[in-house]
Amino acid sequence: DLKGRNAVITGSTSGIGLHYAQGLAALGVNVMLNGFGDEAKIEETRKDIADTYGVTSLYNGADMTKPKEIAGLIAEAKDAFGRIDILINNAGVQKVSPIEDFPDEKWDQIIAINLSSAFHTIKHTVPIMKAQNFGRIVNTASAHALVASPFKAAYVAAKHGIMGLTKTVALEVAENGITCNAICPGYVKTPLVEDQIADTAKARGMTEEEVKKKVMLEAQPTKEFVTYEQLNGLLAYLCSDVGGGCTGTAYQIDGGWTAK
Ligand code: NAD
Repeated sequence: DLKGRNAVITGSTSGIGLHYAQGLAALGVNVMLNGFGDEAKIEETRKDIADTYGVTSLYNGADMTKPKEIAGLIAEAKDAFGRIDILINNAGVQKVSPIEDFPDEKWDQIIAINLSSAFHTIKHTVPIMKAQNFGRIVNTASAHALVASPFKAAYVAAKHGIMGLTKTVALEVAENGITCNAICPGYVKTPLVEDQIADTAKARGMTEEEVKKKVMLEAQPTKEFVTYEQLNGLLAYLCSDVGGGCTGTAYQIDGGWTAK
């Protein structure tokens, strides 16, 4: 029942967001991509999604640290699609550092991208969804929305914050046919995680192999990275009509991490 719906997905030029866009497009959803990267490569991705799945695929490069650009992204999607059925707040960055050395500007940047950007997209999208009496807001949180790890002060704070935002919005729009949920992945082998391996090795004085085995997969009882397909299965459910009963919740797909 997703065919013909329209989605905005922040941070969808790479990793989880890109796979969300492809997964939704495969179900017939028109997508507005967003994120940074090489211009030609992004255009190739955009075109490939349109050609492969026969949907409308657009791109807006709004910087998630800039509220005005975020407003522009939502306005452009509304103009192009006529409605916005699905909003996925997925853009995110990471910094691994002991708190006493944590750069102030990194704290501000992570709070802006991983948390405040979702406030801005939701603020501009809710009036559109209310007028439709339908909407699905899905925030990419993390296992780190529920539990902490050392050396990730800003990330863990932002991800805990997005859970509070998720629950608050869910309550505010509960009678408007709009749901707001968070997906909380464990470790997924995306470019963001690949980058962290080196940083964590440095912060903990370990080799990169040790970080993968003893830090990342140590946290996940399955000892497997979470896959894009697993995340897409839940996303499709949450965005569907029958997902309407679920709101304000945190869905862990973390190989058992937060069960411990
Ligand atoms: P990624 O680095 O592959 O993708 C991040 C995306 O965000 C990219 O498209 C990037 O261009 C975009 N982005 C970064 N800064 C931006 C900005 N200022 N404005 C607009 N877009 C910006 O990372 P990923 O692992 O796919 O992460 C996606 C989300 O999933 C993040 O919110 C992350 O916290 C979350 N997450 C990832 C994992 C994991 O193991 N990879 C686990 C839990 C949660």
